[in-house]
Amino acid sequence: MHKSSFFAEVNKMFDHAAKYTEHDSGLLEQIKSCNSVYHLSFPLVRDNGEIDVIHAYRAEHSQHMQPTKGGIRYAPMVNADEVMALAALMSYKCAIVDVPYGGAKGGICIDRNKYSQSELERITRRYTFELAKKNFIGPGIDVPAPDYGTSSVEMSWIFDTYRSVTDNPLDALACVTGKPVGAGGVRGRIEATGRGVFFGIREACSIEEDMHALGLSSGIEGKRVIIQGLGNVGYHTALYLERAGAIIVGIAEYDGGLYNSKGLILNEIVDHRKETKSILNFPGATNVKNSATLLEMECDILVPAALENQIRSDNADRIQAKIVAEASNGPVTSAAGQSMTERGILIIPDVYLNAGGVTVSYFEWLRNLSHVRHGRISRRREAHNAVNILKTVQALVGKNFDDQVLSDIESGSSFGASEADLVDSGLEDTMVSAYHEIHTEAHSHDVDLRTGAFISAIDKIALGYSRGGIFP
Ligand code: NAD
Repeated sequence: MHKSSFFAEVNKMFDHAAKYTEHDSGLLEQIKSCNSVYHLSFPLVRDNGEIDVIHAYRAEHSQHMQPTKGGIRYAPMVNADEVMALAALMSYKCAIVDVPYGGAKGGICIDRNKYSQSELERITRRYTFELAKKNFIGPGIDVPAPDYGTSSVEMSWIFDTYRSVTDNPLDALACVTGKPVGAGGVRGRIEATGRGVFFGIREACSIEEDMHALGLSSGIEGKRVIIQGLGNVGYHTALYLERAGAIIVGIAEYDGGLYNSKGLILNEIVDHRKETKSILNFPGATNVKNSATLLEMECDILVPAALENQIRSDNADRIQAKIVAEASNGPVTSAAGQSMTERGILIIPDVYLNAGGVTVSYFEWLRNLSHVRHGRISRRREAHNAVNILKTVQALVGKNFDDQVLSDIESGSSFGASEADLVDSGLEDTMVSAYHEIHTEAHSHDVDLRTGAFISAIDKIALGYSRGGIFP
């Protein structure tokens, strides 16, 4: 498979959108360029005594806002070009959803399945130590998060290592997000990206005029969905879509896929994978040997949620979905995107759609810096206010409410927003408002949503540069 430069692909999308703005060409060049890339290598003494050389990267694309922010992925194909592209996408993504960070991304070139848990811990800790030595990590410098192949476990090792080397232990928790709840994490971060993808798809499907143009009815209910990649993002996207009434007809994994036009029950597939180590051979579903074929099968919404470069010029013409919801980063090349848009397919772009992760990471970072759980100070007060209002209404209408209702509200058990509620409502609000912003931008320039999203990002970053006094 021919693989073009991912960073060049992102820059093509940027250049296309930049034509619709009026910024100075030098400023556009600065916004586009990746400010720093650190390639490091270090030895790992394996459990059997052999030595492996581990290659790793961290790219900081833009410091127009600080800290920079972006995930860390563990995958054998990680390289400088990939982390630069992903860091650039992070800068644009943060701007689109108004999260005050520059973009960054890191990665370690390993197939995590080939290493033991203690080897993974040593790799993660050494990577963190090397980043700290070069000032590539810190609550106000650069804040990693989970990405492909990593989870809250690696994030807690990163925090613990950083804490032991920093001279500012008070704020050390804010050096990384996506930590476990109970170790500085925020409720809702694990599912945040998939939950955000769901909100974005739901918003797109709620616009009757757009759905009518695709020959679809509005709403999620009854829409047939294929998901590629049943990891963190893919699973949670599928879960919320299924709960909203969508029918999951296909799931693709690295070793093959499943299809059932009548629908697959997500958690049954997950249980089957736990038992057999694969989604394949699920009773009642058809195995699809080559998982890439599933992308081309009949559905309303296709959700790539694995890796980049999945829909290219060589398979774009065979995509039958009416909506392609880019849950992963860079799943559609610029040429494939153009040809699918010309065919009338609605692409909801990654640079907006998977921003739920960084949005909730922002809430976690704020929590860590403020040293207080969201809602802790105000929750009981809100409950008292509600009881006082009800008592006033009671006196005015001369009718008593059930004592149990009042005491439940007073105890806070049925009133007052919990941290999980606040995080979820903040995420929903962010995804809904940003969708309408990029939609309006796209319509006003008569361009696709991706170009609308990039125009919005470029304008905001340009403003960030001028506010920072870099370009007065
Ligand atoms: P993950 O490691 O949890 O899951 C990825 C899944 O894709 C795995 O189950 C893997 O087996 C599967 N997969 C790999 N190759 C495949 C193939 N060729 N066909 C089908 N399935 C395949 O990773 P994730 O965190 O869910 O990330 C997925 C994508 O979402 C990445 O592009 C990542 O950059 C992006 N993303 C993740 C987050 C986050 O919070 N985790 C945030 C924003 C964007």
